[in-house]
Amino acid sequence: MSKLLHRFRRVAPYFADGRAGLWAALGGAMVSAATEPMIPALMKPLLDQGFTAASLPLWLVPVVIIGLFALRGAAGFVAQYGLAWAANRGVQTLREAMFARLLVAQPALFSQHSASKLTNTVVYEAQTGANLLVSALLTLVKDSLTLAALVGYLLWLNWQLTLFVAVLLPAVALVMRSIGRRLRRLVQASQDATDELAYTVEENVLAWRIVRMHGAGQEQARRFHDHSLRLRRLLLKAVAAAGAMTPLTQLFAAVALSSVIVVALWQSQGAAAVAGGATVGGFVAFVTAMLMLVAPIKHLSDVMSPIVRGLVSVERGIDLVEHTPSEHGGAHAPPRARGHIQLDEVRLQYGQDDSPALDGVTLDLAPGETVALVGPSGAGKSSLVHLLPRFVAPQAGSVRLDGVPLEQWDVQALRRQFALVSQDVVLFNDSVAANVALGGVQDERRVREALAGANLLDFVATLADGLATPVGHNGARLSGGQRQRLAIARALYKDAPVLILDEATSALDSESEAAVQQALERLMKGRTTIVIAHRLSTVERADRIVALDAGRVVEQGSHAQLLATGGLYARLHAMQFRT
Ligand code: ADP
Ligand code: MG
Repeated sequence: MSKLLHRFRRVAPYFADGRAGLWAALGGAMVSAATEPMIPALMKPLLDQGFTAASLPLWLVPVVIIGLFALRGAAGFVAQYGLAWAANRGVQTLREAMFARLLVAQPALFSQHSASKLTNTVVYEAQTGANLLVSALLTLVKDSLTLAALVGYLLWLNWQLTLFVAVLLPAVALVMRSIGRRLRRLVQASQDATDELAYTVEENVLAWRIVRMHGAGQEQARRFHDHSLRLRRLLLKAVAAAGAMTPLTQLFAAVALSSVIVVALWQSQGAAAVAGGATVGGFVAFVTAMLMLVAPIKHLSDVMSPIVRGLVSVERGIDLVEHTPSEHGGAHAPPRARGHIQLDEVRLQYGQDDSPALDGVTLDLAPGETVALVGPSGAGKSSLVHLLPRFVAPQAGSVRLDGVPLEQWDVQALRRQFALVSQDVVLFNDSVAANVALGGVQDERRVREALAGANLLDFVATLADGLATPVGHNGARLSGGQRQRLAIARALYKDAPVLILDEATSALDSESEAAVQQALERLMKGRTTIVIAHRLSTVERADRIVALDAGRVVEQGSHAQLLATGGLYARLHAMQFRT
């Protein structure tokens, strides 16, 4: 219990802004609970004075009854709305905190959790968790208050009889519970049995060749028979349990009710001294209030599981916020780097059991130099370029930009120094202009320049809304070449000193490749460039070619030098010519 309180204390700050709603809900629940005993309480004067003494003014009956229900309805509404208001505010707070954390989380988060899991936590789980929690809390508050109010009223009416009921009621509840539990177990078991039956059929449908080949039909039929027999028995047991439930409940209720009536009659006959409780109205009020106890007790007995489930969901969101480390860097933040990149004995390993993706790589890229990385797939080319904007961190060795180790750079300042064009172009469902100026200020003149540089301005001019045309989900309305050129325009717009091209042209047909190639050459001018290319024709013009294999630099030099050496590059080159 104290552990539960502790967990609530952790959740509470996110819902603190909705405090007003929670207070309103509490007030509403109290009023609504207070009206509960008034219904049986009305029975007493109605029966005692209305029918026998006829001293009750008739107009009072509708006024009181309608008034009571109006009050109860209004209070219930306030409670529900107040709580929902608080819950939704809390969900919004939590969600925004989660999303803010996603934006700055260390990259490891994205390799540990799938996109769908993170989406689920941020979007759905917070909502369902808070809803469950809130409605369960409303039940808890409202029904315990109702219970307290009814018990108070019963005690006031006739405390001896109430004590008698207090002993009786839990006994009845206990019996009901155990029957209910058996029923749940049976339902669960029959679900499992159904699954097994279905699995047997599935196996035999999928593996029918093996079954026939081995003559295993009879064996499988026996298996099927066992499962279906088990299912039949379980289902019948469940029906028996469910069928017995209602009559048993009624039987127990009859026992309880009759004993209460006997005690009440015995009380009123034996001792006229028990004043107040002995009138007909008093008796009916008592029985009514007693029966009204059943509903809140039932609700309260079911309240724990949604509370725990809701807590678990909300806590998962809070864990995301509180236990996901953010990226941290240093303070080095010059406006523009020169673009001098140095890797020194860099070792990178994704998982503990994986072989290293980079194994002792040492490289020095002068400002303005164009270096091509080549090597078979899986050689570590993408891994190498992902080191630079700190998308991954090396396990050993150091990476420096302009002589400053990357850890000492301010993370945002560091990323301002790079533009990345890769094979998979990510476009956001926004206008062309917003996609080009992504993250920066939208300057229409510069956007046009960038598009022109990427050979895309003519195409944009044909769009209905020009620069303001939305590109659709992930650029669904653009062709591969257009998407690629949009990515190039984005890189031109960013105008970073270091350019990374990771298989930027590999998805293109040769026609659009020419247009892209031209755009790329414009983009590369005056920048330190790392090109990873599928087609070696892009590579030939680089200042230097670095060949990677299994995470190691195996050779480097100019196109002519490497061809003459007859190593990995020469082999790759020869292979491409053949195809
Ligand atoms: P290339 O770009 O040269 O094809 P990569 O750098 O993508 O090669 O991959 C190098 C090695 O690292 C491969 O063995 C690949 O399976 C592994 N690898 C790449 N990215 C990840 C990742 N996010 N998690 C685990 N292993 C990875
Ligand atoms: Mg790659």
